Amino acid sequence: MPGSPILRVLRVAIPSPLHRLFDYRPAPDVPACGWQPGLRVRVPFGRREVVGIVVECREQSDLPLTALKRVTACLDDAPLPPDWLWLCRFTARYYQHPLGDTLHQALPVLLRQGRALAPRTRERWALTPAGHAAGSDALPRAPRQAALLEMLRQHPHGLVSQAILAQSFSRDQLKALSAKGLVERHEEPLTAAPLPDPDHLLASPALPLNREQAHALSALHERLDGYHPCLLEGVTGSGKTEVYLQLIEAVVGRGRQALILVPEIGLTPQTLARFRKRFRVPVVALHSGLTEHERLDAWEAAASGRAPIVVGTRSAIFTPLARPGALIVDEEHDASYKQQDGLRYHARDLAVARAHHHRIPLLLGSATPSLESLARAHRGEWRHLPLTRRATRHAPARLELLDLRGRPRLGGLAPPALEAISDTLDAGHQVLVFINRRGFAPTLACHACGWLAECDSCDARMTLHRQPPLLACHHCDRRRVLPDACPECQSIDLRPLGSGTERTEETLAERFPKVPVHRIDRDSTRRRDAFEQALTEVRRGDPCLLVGTQMLAKGHHLPHVTLVVVVNADAGLYASDFRALEQGAQLLVQVAGRAGRAAQPGRVLVQTMHPDDPHLRLLAERGYAALAERLLEERRAAALPPFRFLALLRLESAREEAAGELGRRTAAALRAWLAERQLTVDCLGPVPAPMERRQGRYHLQLMLGAEKRSALHEAGAWLTAWLEATPEARRIRWSLDIDPQTL
Ligand code: ADP
Ligand code: ZN
Ligand code: ZN
Repeated sequence: MPGSPILRVLRVAIPSPLHRLFDYRPAPDVPACGWQPGLRVRVPFGRREVVGIVVECREQSDLPLTALKRVTACLDDAPLPPDWLWLCRFTARYYQHPLGDTLHQALPVLLRQGRALAPRTRERWALTPAGHAAGSDALPRAPRQAALLEMLRQHPHGLVSQAILAQSFSRDQLKALSAKGLVERHEEPLTAAPLPDPDHLLASPALPLNREQAHALSALHERLDGYHPCLLEGVTGSGKTEVYLQLIEAVVGRGRQALILVPEIGLTPQTLARFRKRFRVPVVALHSGLTEHERLDAWEAAASGRAPIVVGTRSAIFTPLARPGALIVDEEHDASYKQQDGLRYHARDLAVARAHHHRIPLLLGSATPSLESLARAHRGEWRHLPLTRRATRHAPARLELLDLRGRPRLGGLAPPALEAISDTLDAGHQVLVFINRRGFAPTLACHACGWLAECDSCDARMTLHRQPPLLACHHCDRRRVLPDACPECQSIDLRPLGSGTERTEETLAERFPKVPVHRIDRDSTRRRDAFEQALTEVRRGDPCLLVGTQMLAKGHHLPHVTLVVVVNADAGLYASDFRALEQGAQLLVQVAGRAGRAAQPGRVLVQTMHPDDPHLRLLAERGYAALAERLLEERRAAALPPFRFLALLRLESAREEAAGELGRRTAAALRAWLAERQLTVDCLGPVPAPMERRQGRYHLQLMLGAEKRSALHEAGAWLTAWLEATPEARRIRWSLDIDPQTL
């Protein structure tokens, strides 16, 4: 093409910890679509060959062209989906993570390894006006080209490449004709599966909505063609899922796709079954249980538009969509949306960016919205859609605080709790005992000298387990056999301290021998179907006791449970993290939501040593919304998120001095740079992390805070560049966490 720049350099993103791209010269074979961003290439990198992704095509490199290596091969005949590429670039920029690693993480494993994608487009070749005008004797010295020209003349709409090649014409002949300006190439999408017929979309009818649900849905309908973020706040059982289903119906009915994110713990067979029962079109699920082949299939189904409905956990936010129509984030406050290592992204926040980019509705649902989302709703940036009543009969149970002070406890349970359990079982109902600690007891103690079983590698106690008997550190997974005597004073008077799920299970089994006790935690459900099996039994409805951790608190419908006992509310609420109250309250409300979902009203007993604590009382007396309001005021006063933006630099090393030294140098360099740039970003630390020693390594952190996100990002970018250029930092593991969930 005259005047178009000469492409000499491909900038390639490569999976590496470095925040930079690498320049290569193109491979001699030009891919059918021409060189474009989004193509996977195989390139030499150090002594290996790796799969990278072209992100820019340029005329020049900063290096002399002769110093550049060549791309070995192009792996795609069309670029990876542009919406996916956009999201990865956004993610890398926002989270200050290397683009190469971001792209790598966001790709199904088989594609990372270079596996070919099914073609998404095909080429069609047709005559140009010059080709039409050319006579049959136009190419006397190229008889095959002339024959090809004749063949195309018979097909006014052109022919797809496969049809041409099948007639034993070659690609070179097509290229030659194209170079002469006689034929041209068009790229057309492979026809996706036919759009569902809107009249036959539903396999089972939508429920008639109550007034609040109808109001929420019509608010969503007002703008299906633009960015339209809505926070659907409603207690468990208030019918949020029904609103999602009807929004999906509208979106899919218009030939678009819906992507639904659910918490890790929430993508149960029950949830999926509910979606599949409603719609006649395929519902693709993305979760950790898929094989790599299944994952690639799901990815391709979404990317091609064949899958109108995609449901998945955190990483599903990176699923490409051919025709995006709506994004839904269920339980938007859930901590599992934040990835805590490597690429530290928050799927809910990426959903916001993505919905904005695609200009589509975004529906975030929760019984207990995050303070971040509430603040945006209060500011009017997001539409606030409340569902205040349960779709089914009963109002959500109130929390009753049970004072633990001065009361004897059995397996962690005070006498009034045991009585309530006994009454409930006598009435023929089921009881859920929530205790957020697995194992038999939080630790083992020597009664003679006060020794406690501590982990050698962490600043933490080891948990006592009985099934099988051992001491285990829940932070580094180190295990130890149970000592026969105290290692300090040789006394044999070793006793469990406190209660975990195993001990509570044991106590309840002794106390209520006639009813089955099901323990549900990570240890009891290691077998894949053990959890579902227990739940199936529980759903039959016979009186029983359930003892469980978080695993039970979310997502599961337990219609016959009418009493919930929270063994210890204090552990979660009064942890040192600034989000502890918010997250502790969310968990309590979730657990409470398990009670009384069907025919019977429910009761929730919350054991605490602090029954007069103003936060806990506010939650018990006036509910989550009132507490959230108060917490927002406190956050504003303390200049904490959502009123301030934070980033956390974490440093770790097996050598305490090495981490400390780098931490101090980094902080000093950053402060000097901030002063010079006159950026208002504060820098706190370095300080030891809440658990300084973990897995035998020392953890330090440096906190950055700013009122303006742009200032924080500028500082973050400088910081990562500085660390990358600092030789000492290569011996220390470091990471920058933007919008950290825990400090
Ligand atoms: P949430 O997602 O808020 O927990 P669900 O959508 O799961 O609530 O609804 C709770 C229960 O109420 C479900 O069994 C659902 O089928 C039922 N339900 C929801 N909306 C309605 C409605 N409009 N009419 C009758 N039942 C409803
Ligand atoms: Zn001792
Ligand atoms: Zn440990």
